[in-house]
Amino acid sequence: MDLHCHSTASDGTLTPTEVLQRAAQQGVDLLALTDHDTLNGLHEAQQAAASLPLQLINGVEVSADFHGRVLHVLGLRFDDTAGHPLAEGLQQSDRLRRERGARIQEKLARKGMADAAERAEALCDHGQALTRTHFARALVELGYCPAMQDAFDRWLGQGKSCYQKARWPVLEEVVGWITASGGVAVLAHPLRYKLTGAWLRRVLTAFRQAGGSGLEVVTGHYNPDQTRRSAQWARAFELQASAGSDFHNPANPHVELGRLETLPAGLRPVWAGW
Ligand code: AMP
Ligand code: MN
Ligand code: MN
Ligand code: MN
Repeated sequence: MDLHCHSTASDGTLTPTEVLQRAAQQGVDLLALTDHDTLNGLHEAQQAAASLPLQLINGVEVSADFHGRVLHVLGLRFDDTAGHPLAEGLQQSDRLRRERGARIQEKLARKGMADAAERAEALCDHGQALTRTHFARALVELGYCPAMQDAFDRWLGQGKSCYQKARWPVLEEVVGWITASGGVAVLAHPLRYKLTGAWLRRVLTAFRQAGGSGLEVVTGHYNPDQTRRSAQWARAFELQASAGSDFHNPANPHVELGRLETLPAGLRPVWAGW
């Protein structure tokens, strides 16, 4: 099973159909496609799942603000009837992404990299979510830097010259959209935000109070020590445990669909009973 991955609907390189096919090949039996701030890939994913031996649940990874910090909240297994609160809320996120993308393009142009600004847009399928990953890929393709990580380190990372802050919807609001749509809210990769223990405690307290019920304990990017520490946070806040690879791109040999550490003991899996 794998409850976190990306397609071309946001910053993944495989189409939703290709993600589903690859997941089935990898032996994944339960999958959530969780693109950044969009549900656009879900329809295609559902069609692909119909002829594959796996169960697909609805998913999304929503960018949220918590006192100026950006957090990622996974929405899992929500109803996708038209006009539900999550779909409504994500229209706001979509607008924010477009506006932020235009500001990043201006900053790149001012640095003499207007071609990268254009390339990023070309790399992003029409109507799909424009992410910093698209800008990083464009900068690498045009030879401005050797690897995506350099693009974040030099220009796109928080506080760098082409970084643009966005006023993402606040954490409580995002959790509210998900739960009001019948979904489960899971805080993604809790150790990736570089928060102090005191801040993570604040985040988890607010998250629970807002109706959040899961914590991503296992991700494709963690080492065993990080998994152990995330498990401790889940137990301390009585959150159910989720697990997902955060797969984006088959060219990354370190992350594969369905390739996950086993869940540490003493946790209730968020997928129990699904
Ligand atoms: P965005 O939501 O548009 O701000 O883009 C965030 C995405 O950029 C994340 O989901 C990652 O896929 C990618 N990302 C963020 N920071 C880094 C980094 N330091 N190196 C590589 N990819 C990154
Ligand atoms: Mn991403
Ligand atoms: Mn994330
Ligand atoms: Mn992700």
